[in-house]
Amino acid sequence: MSRVLVIRYGEIALKGLNRPQFESRLIKNIRRKVNKLGISKVTCSQSRVYLESEDPRYPYDEAARLVAEVFGIVSVSVANMVPSVYEDVCAEAVALATEAHEKRGLNTFKVETKRGNKSFPMQSPEVSVNIGGAILDAVPGVEVDVISPQFTVYIEIRERTYVYLDKIPGQCGMPLGTNGRGLLLISGGIDSPVAGWMMARRGVELEALHFATPPYTGDAALEKVKSLCRLLCEYVDRIQLHVVSITDPMVEFAQVCPEEETILHMRRLMMKVSERICRDRGLQSIITGENIGQVASQTMEAIAVTDNATEMPVFRPLIGMDKNDIIAIARKIGTFETSIQAHEDCCTVFVAKHPATRPHLDRILKSEEKVDMDAMVQYALDHHDVYDIRVDA
Ligand code: ATP
Ligand code: MG
Repeated sequence: MSRVLVIRYGEIALKGLNRPQFESRLIKNIRRKVNKLGISKVTCSQSRVYLESEDPRYPYDEAARLVAEVFGIVSVSVANMVPSVYEDVCAEAVALATEAHEKRGLNTFKVETKRGNKSFPMQSPEVSVNIGGAILDAVPGVEVDVISPQFTVYIEIRERTYVYLDKIPGQCGMPLGTNGRGLLLISGGIDSPVAGWMMARRGVELEALHFATPPYTGDAALEKVKSLCRLLCEYVDRIQLHVVSITDPMVEFAQVCPEEETILHMRRLMMKVSERICRDRGLQSIITGENIGQVASQTMEAIAVTDNATEMPVFRPLIGMDKNDIIAIARKIGTFETSIQAHEDCCTVFVAKHPATRPHLDRILKSEEKVDMDAMVQYALDHHDVYDIRVDA
């Protein structure tokens, strides 16, 4: 018997021509994720990925936990692998049932068999029944319960046979790098890291952009954004974080435009700067954490005014979600505790107490004529730092 990780990925996404690209990207992402655990071999065969190591002390459980975080994976099991010979399979199933009963205190079970290898002489139901009987004989105190068992002995008969007890759920989604690249506008709040994670889970590679207004916003705000990017790197490995200053443009808006419009001008400027960075970096979309109705700048009218400032596609994956659902994801992905730490943001520093909630585009464009938008974009690009954020950097 030897151990192996059995890794299942979403098959619906796989129909069609991009399957090999999808699989090789997934394998690359898995290898990168487990790299720090030592040498292992990751291979793909018949819609499954397998990870094995020649090192008998290889930490398979730790590897399974890491692999379950890789986007595109539905579930992972640490399996014991035996030759596809009935006696070997049965002995292994009995050993695992004994472990479930004696070490985990579980009593009711079922056996679930899948036979991909049609040269195996027994059909799946027959294997399940026979091995179930063998377990009952060999492990006193266990009982069969096919409806809601406390544990399941999974048997997958392929060229070799995999026997295991657990399926660790994965993140699902699609492998990172199979769905283009986007620029995440990251503010330091709860929403934007969740928005980035959701797009990354669909396979979109991320760079991030943060707008600062020093000295009104300080180092603590920047450090917070870096920490959030570092937390996202658990899923995406690496994020180039762009930080641009828009202090002078904000001061100018505050002086020449009606106060209730400031946030809209700022958001239009953000879009224009984002578009330039996207074009320079070969990124195909802008991603924000906007959510309909959440604040004044996120009414339908305000979003329309913001959208009009750019020709890039702007993706807002949180648009129709409730705050509680967003918070649940933030907790799950580990960004919530950092996001709720107090920080000053350019939105809070420069924004009116009563911003316009039903803005008219023509009026906003009219006041925008009072400033030189191109020069403002250039100001931002001239005050542009880039940080290469990695999980352990
Ligand atoms: P979040 O919870 O993500 O901070 P928010 O509730 O503060 O969002 P807004 O301030 O209206 O909401 O911002 C909406 C979106 O605009 C954010 O989710 C983010 O994508 C982007 N954004 C806001 N402020 C900044 C900033 N300083 N730098 C980069 N992007 C920003
Ligand atoms: Mg928000």
